[in-house]
Amino acid sequence: MDFKVFSVQKRQKNNEDIRNVVIIGGGPAGLTAAIYSARAMLQPLLIEKGVMGGQAAITDILENYPGFPDGIGGPRLSELFEIQAKKFGTEIINDEVVSVRKDSDIFFVEGLDAEYKARSLIIATGASYKRLGVKGEEELIGRGISFCATCDGAFFKDAKIAVIGGGDSAVKEAIFLTKFAQEVYIIHRRDALRAEKIIQQQAFSNPKIKFKWKTIVEEFIGDESGIKKLRLRNVDSGDLYEEHFDGAFIFIGHRPNSEVFSGLVEMDENGFIITDESMRTSMEGVFAVGDVRKKALRQVITASADGAIAAYMVEEYLHKR
Ligand code: NDP
Repeated sequence: MDFKVFSVQKRQKNNEDIRNVVIIGGGPAGLTAAIYSARAMLQPLLIEKGVMGGQAAITDILENYPGFPDGIGGPRLSELFEIQAKKFGTEIINDEVVSVRKDSDIFFVEGLDAEYKARSLIIATGASYKRLGVKGEEELIGRGISFCATCDGAFFKDAKIAVIGGGDSAVKEAIFLTKFAQEVYIIHRRDALRAEKIIQQQAFSNPKIKFKWKTIVEEFIGDESGIKKLRLRNVDSGDLYEEHFDGAFIFIGHRPNSEVFSGLVEMDENGFIITDESMRTSMEGVFAVGDVRKKALRQVITASADGAIAAYMVEEYLHKR
């Protein structure tokens, strides 16, 4: 596909422009909000602090995104979203938002590089991987502990790897890691997986995948050269033992990237932003979409759906004003 891409990279300190809508976050939710609001001629500004595509961009392959029966690589799908958003005139800026305040119906979005003004906001900052919070974890992140199989799997050729968690991420990534590793142990605190049944079946029939049920990690043991052992506990018997592993991947869910918006919009006890079904938050003119909001199913398709709805509601909100 060869789209003619245009982007207006205009970065000004204390930019005087008041944008119709500023979208914070460039994952599937933010990019879809950008596509829809650009097509509604709202000339959106999208601010992303890191890599475009969010978590989808670090997912090896998406097998359940409709329209791609053979699956599509997460990086490729993210690239297509971005091309489409730019094609319709979204301006994309790389900056990190550090605070947001409202004054006389205008939102002031403070970035590390510039301040942006907007009549409405779409928060699409997603979620980050949760940590276990056990001994040795912090020190060994990047030295044998990883949260991204696509990024780091290849470092573990012929290795013995632990994957912690029992949801879709853990089981899918464990399957992916068998491309490189000799043995992959899924270490799960219960005796049943939470992952989709079809993904479970793939794992159960993979000879390289083994399970340690009802088991929790109490400590990661290693040094500068990497992980050496995990201290594990069986939650039934209480047995505590150490076992050698070359690496560990932690997939135990997510925490929302919503700290910047505390005080601005209502959140639940875990920091997920509360919206109605039109993506409206408790603050008029502020919408939240994708993994950062409180919702039942966090998928690329539901993130995109949120983005489309929010863009539509922003248009209605601006029109009424
Ligand atoms: P989930 O919240 O679905 O699963 C987290 C897993 O980690 C659970 O098995 C949970 O155990 C376990 N866990 C949580 N906290 C701890 C802890 N402190 N110690 C040990 N284990 C812990 O997160 P995922 O990241 O897997 O998925 C997030 C969302 O993304 C889900 O909606 C999922 O469906 C979706 N997703 C879909 C994919 C797909 O291809 N369809 C791929 C990846 C994600 P327990 O089960 O006991 O609660």
